[in-house]
Amino acid sequence: MPLKGRIEVNEYYCKACGLCIEHCPQGVIALSKDRFNAKGYHPAELIEAGCTGCGICTIVCPEAAITVYRAVKDKPEMA
Ligand code: SF4
Ligand code: SF4
Repeated sequence: MPLKGRIEVNEYYCKACGLCIEHCPQGVIALSKDRFNAKGYHPAELIEAGCTGCGICTIVCPEAAITVYRAVKDKPEMA
């Protein structure tokens, strides 16, 4: 089963540089087409399912605006 994750973008800090979009291996981030943040940028957002929680986007974001959440796999029961 593929890993599952999601991200939250702190829109206040996003400057729409596009680095997270460029580096996301799943291609699931885009700039909002209809929203602006307080600085006048279209903030990045998750646009579809498929995030694996790999964390690459948060590593490349120069504003540290992305928080990644990763689903925890169930541990097998001990006998
Ligand atoms: S955690 Fe990985 S898969 Fe998910 S949005 Fe960020 S770069 Fe893409
Ligand atoms: S890398 Fe960070 S600042 Fe750049 S578009 Fe993505 S969330 Fe915004």
